[in-house]
Amino acid sequence: MSFDLFENEILGIVGETGSGKSVTGRSMMGLLPIPPAVVAGGSVTYRPSGLCPFCEGACCSSCGGTGAATCPSCGGPGCPECEGTGRSGIDLLNASVESMRQLRGRRIAMIFQDASKALNPVLSIRDQVAEVFLQHRSHDLLAGLDGPVLPPVRRAIRQEAGYLERQLLLFPPFRSQSRRLRKMLDDLVAQALADVQIANPRKVMESHPHQLSGGMKQRAMIAQAMACDPDVLIADEPTTALDTTVQARILELILEMRQRSRTAVLYISHDLSVVKMVCDRVGVMYAGTIAEIGSAERVFRSPHHPYTRALLGAVPSAGQERGHLAAIKGLVPEFSLDSPLCRFHDRCSYAVDACRSSRPRDVQVAPGHSVACFGYGTAEAHGLPATGGDDLPHVQIPVVEKGPVGV
Ligand code: SF4
Ligand SMILES: [Zn+2]
Ligand SMILES: [Zn+2]
Repeated sequence: MSFDLFENEILGIVGETGSGKSVTGRSMMGLLPIPPAVVAGGSVTYRPSGLCPFCEGACCSSCGGTGAATCPSCGGPGCPECEGTGRSGIDLLNASVESMRQLRGRRIAMIFQDASKALNPVLSIRDQVAEVFLQHRSHDLLAGLDGPVLPPVRRAIRQEAGYLERQLLLFPPFRSQSRRLRKMLDDLVAQALADVQIANPRKVMESHPHQLSGGMKQRAMIAQAMACDPDVLIADEPTTALDTTVQARILELILEMRQRSRTAVLYISHDLSVVKMVCDRVGVMYAGTIAEIGSAERVFRSPHHPYTRALLGAVPSAGQERGHLAAIKGLVPEFSLDSPLCRFHDRCSYAVDACRSSRPRDVQVAPGHSVACFGYGTAEAHGLPATGGDDLPHVQIPVVEKGPVGV
C-alpha cells in the first residue's frame, strides 16, 4: 500500500477490524513488536517543516549544521530527491532508536486505541504527561528558570538525574529552582488536561490510571499526545470510548490543533459519520491494501470500489426498517504478501476470473480519487494483456452517482 499524508489535512482510514489500520499507524511510529512483526520492506518518509527536528535549530550533523529541515540537495526550491518539496526526508522505518525517540511525542504523536494499555500503571498522570514536556520542551523549561540553572536541576530537566541527585533537589540551594520547575510542569500538565475537558485537572493529575474511568484515561492519553503540537498525529480510534459530548470536544481540539500547527492527522476509525465530518480525504483499507482513496466528499458521494459501497451500505440509518441490517458476508482474509489476486474476490458480487488470478492496481477515476478494482481503468493500467478494447469488459460494476451513504 502507498499513500501520502499532507500537512494541514486530516486523512481518514476506514475499514473492518483486521484490515490493517492500526498496524499501519503503529508501523509509522516504529512501534510494532519485532518479533513477531517483520518489516519486510518499504519506507515511511517524514518530511518535516521548519526547524531540524533533531536539534530544533541549534545545528547538528543531521541538518548539516543549518538548523533547518530543508533538503540538503536543493536547499529549498525542490528537486527530484525531495520530490519537489524542498524538505529533507527521514525514513522512519530505518531511523535509529535515538532518532525515533526524539521524533516520537514531539513531531509525530499517536493516540492509542486502548488507554489502559498505553498508560503506565505505576506512574501518576502528572508524571506521564510531564515526561512529554521534560523530554521535548526542556529548552522552554530551562528558559523559565531565573539565573544560571544549577547542574542537578539541569540534569533533572534532562531526565538524567539519579536518585541521590533528585533527593538533593529538596534542599538549598537547589530547592527554589526545583520548586519553580515543579510549578511550571504542574501548570503545563494542568493546562494540557484542561484542554481535553478534564474537570479539576489538579486533582486528576495526582491519580494513577487505575483510579480513573476509561473515558478519563483516554482523555489523559490524548492530552499527552497533543501536548507538543506534533507535525503528525496518528489517532487510532481516539474517541471510541467517549461520550458524544466529550467526543465532539476532542474532535474540535484536533481541528483546532490542525489549524494552529498545520498538523497532518491520520484518523483511524470505524465511525464513518465522524470520518465524513472531520476528514479532508479518506482511504478505505481492506486486508492490508488501500482499496479506494480520495476526497471525503467524493468517496462518500460517489463510492466506486465494491468494498467501499458495501461498507457504506452496512451503516444503519435512522429511517431504515427495523430488523434489516445489511452486512458484508465472509471475513477479512489473513494477510499474505504474495497472493496475486484481488483480496476482496471471495466477498465481491462482481468478481470474475481475472479477480482470482491477478491483483488490480490503483487506477485514477478522477483527480485525486483512485480505486484498486478491475471494474475501472484499462487492462494496461492493471498490468494485464490488452483485451482488444480499452476497458476491462468482463467486470461490470454499475455506476453509482449518489452512494448508499447512510452516514
Ligand atoms: S477486482 Fe474484482 S473482486 Fe476485486 S473488487 Fe473489483 S470486481 Fe470485486
Ligand atoms: Zn539539526
Ligand atoms: Zn530537494
